Amino acid sequence: MKAALILFYLLFLAFPVFSHDEVFTRVCKLMGSRYEISVVASSEEEGVEYIDMAVAEIERIEQLISSWRPDSETSKINEAAGNHSVPVSGELFAFLKRCLQLSKVTSGAFDISYAAMDRIWKFDGSMIQMPAPEEVSASVKNVGYRNIILDEEKQSVFLKKKGMKIGFGAIGKGYSADQAKKLLVNAGVKGGIINASGDLAVWGEQPDGKPWMAGITNPLNKNKVFSWFPIKNRAVVTSGDYEKFVMLDGKRYSHIIDPRTGYPTHGLVSVTVFAPMAELADALSTALFVMGSDAGIDLVQQIDGVDCVMVTTEGEILKSGNIQISHDVSEY
Ligand code: ADP
Ligand code: MG
Repeated sequence: MKAALILFYLLFLAFPVFSHDEVFTRVCKLMGSRYEISVVASSEEEGVEYIDMAVAEIERIEQLISSWRPDSETSKINEAAGNHSVPVSGELFAFLKRCLQLSKVTSGAFDISYAAMDRIWKFDGSMIQMPAPEEVSASVKNVGYRNIILDEEKQSVFLKKKGMKIGFGAIGKGYSADQAKKLLVNAGVKGGIINASGDLAVWGEQPDGKPWMAGITNPLNKNKVFSWFPIKNRAVVTSGDYEKFVMLDGKRYSHIIDPRTGYPTHGLVSVTVFAPMAELADALSTALFVMGSDAGIDLVQQIDGVDCVMVTTEGEILKSGNIQISHDVSEY
């Protein structure tokens, strides 16, 4: 969950007299997370219709990529690990291809096959002791995106090793936000925000013509927003270790796992990524946690249209070149 940095946004401040447009918002639980869908519409009826469309689209995606629904395409791939390949839909195949590209770009920091590790690391409070080092090293052997084999011709997927498993925890919400946005843009909806637990896909503007605003909270002081950013046709995603973490032997471990070592990451408390698409921002925010601040900022500076803000465990705020923090953060 991205509650680490709660992203606030201003919905509507004032309505121009000559426009009947309003913002309609619904909060709902989708893909096991809290979604907040806001649309600009000229009547409540229209607003409800648009939001229903977005909800149906997100539910459809959940059915495709969920690894906890036994009947999803993703679960079928996991079941067949080490055994046989599984033909999948064009949509899932294309999504998997993009996931593997993201693994390459992030030197393996983002890796959907991290999921083999979720058999030993539990971030739901049930874990009381460190897994044995042998257990970690045995599990990490089943992690590695290079062992996810995509057959373009057959449009099938094969996980080479028996204990392998894939999971879209670090990218699925972003993808769903992009898809719901796309559907509504195509339906003619002038503006809105799909907020998938802190993964924001934004388009258009508020009814009064002002841009939507996203605020990043200081993870060290949840009630303080340290900077506001106007967001226009862009995505903003925050990964934080605020809620999902585990304390073992007095040390705090985040829910993001370094696929190369099998151990949870440390050093950063939150990473916010601005990008054209929520899918990219989501995957990168997770990857930057693993890569750390120096390598992470270095990567971000090389990708067009992408920026980031990070907060370290020491409370230091780091950012890529194009980001301007609007407030003096030291006052918080
Ligand atoms: P959140 O789930 O808080 O929104 P993220 O987008 O950062 O945050 O995703 C974290 C989730 O991604 C983890 O809970 C886990 O399901 C999955 N994950 C953990 N480590 C990795 C990794 N190295 N690569 C890909 N997915 C990961
Ligand atoms: Mg992510």
